[in-house]
Amino acid sequence: MAIKPKKASENKEKAKARTTFQSPKGMRDILPREQAWWQRVMKTSKEIAEFYNFLRIETPIMEDVALFERSLGLDSDVVSKEMFYVRAGGKDRYVLRPEGTAPIARAYIENGLHHISQPVKLYYEGSMFRHEKPQAGRLREFHQLGFEIMGGQNDPIYDAQIILATHRLLEGLKFKNLQLQVNSIGCRVCRPHFRKKLLDYYRKHERALCEDCKKRLKTNPLRLLDCKEASCVALKEHAPSLMDSLCTSCSSHFKSVLEYLDELALSYTLNPYLVRGLDYYSKTVFEIFVDGFDLALAGGGRYDYLFEMIGGRPTPGVGAALGVERIIEVMKQKEIDVPQPKKPRVFVVYIGDLAKRKALKIVEELRVNNIAVKESFGKDLLKKQMQLADKGEAEYALILGQKEVFEESVIIRDLKSGNQESVPVLKMVQELKKRL
Ligand code: AMP
Repeated sequence: MAIKPKKASENKEKAKARTTFQSPKGMRDILPREQAWWQRVMKTSKEIAEFYNFLRIETPIMEDVALFERSLGLDSDVVSKEMFYVRAGGKDRYVLRPEGTAPIARAYIENGLHHISQPVKLYYEGSMFRHEKPQAGRLREFHQLGFEIMGGQNDPIYDAQIILATHRLLEGLKFKNLQLQVNSIGCRVCRPHFRKKLLDYYRKHERALCEDCKKRLKTNPLRLLDCKEASCVALKEHAPSLMDSLCTSCSSHFKSVLEYLDELALSYTLNPYLVRGLDYYSKTVFEIFVDGFDLALAGGGRYDYLFEMIGGRPTPGVGAALGVERIIEVMKQKEIDVPQPKKPRVFVVYIGDLAKRKALKIVEELRVNNIAVKESFGKDLLKKQMQLADKGEAEYALILGQKEVFEESVIIRDLKSGNQESVPVLKMVQELKKRL
């Protein structure tokens, strides 16, 4: 009798009746098969951070809503549309952190880090949360690595050092053809003049702006320069340039940053239209791109007003954040190799219940002696276990049957040649070490 194909509606009904769950939209599981990439990125970032003397800091995953409202700005995309509120005790006072800098500045103030030697150099890694439209390279939970230099003087050498550490981290991950874009967005003195120039220009062309930019014209005109809509990109080409509006102090700060970059032979492109979406930035801003990938891998800048915005005393600061998922995506795209975990060279095989019981103890003895082993306690059939030993690319099998249990011995079998030898359990470690 022919089997009828299932109707699409039948499948839909089944899907509805399903009681399983999925991870929240835009949030992903990081499975064991991904770990080699993650570990490579974390290892390199730790090495770079330690080399440049950044100290590790961790802050809670959620913070007071007001911390971000005040520092990123109420009109920023992140605060106005992308925050995840945490409902607890009937109130929405906390949000999942959308970025790492404001929480670290909060920690600096709260823990009196200005009492230690300045500036304080910190690094972090962790999950950030933004309710964005999920797409390639844009997630709702993503991981950032970041560097911050807080306190001391607002010396341009620190801007250069932050850019250097970020660049070296990407180079350490074997990225080639990195493109560093830099700009200065000025300070409280010069930015209002630029804002006015920008408004005058865009008001003349308001009708050609996208709907979002029409709103930005009223709330955050600098962000008009950041829009990716074709009509707004075209208008930007003739927009006034930030660099022509910098005050003497900002322009000399920026010049020094560029001189340091020249000194380090770090090539860069001046992008007079680079602005960053958060209110706390001032003076230097930058982003790093890689060939063949449209989205920035890293971004950062100076934030000399941040501490005041959140109730601290005026404190200079500069920092950068790198997106781990984007980095890994590009590493895979560019087929950058990562070391795979080492495969255990010994596989423990047992035959029968009694041997199974002894096998557990034998595995422990090998662990204590630093010999990496694998076993398969769920598969009692000898044939299955031997297949797994071969598949796992082990070099030796340690075979334990009833006879061996009574004799207190094990068989060491060379899986390539098929040669095997019975050795007393007491000598097992010694014999294995000789062969490995
Ligand atoms: P930002 O905090 O916006 O300056 O972002 C710094 C870096 O974090 C970016 O260059 C990206 O690599 C990464 N990033 C920012 N937003 C996302 C997102 N929604 N999904 C994945 N990575 C992101």
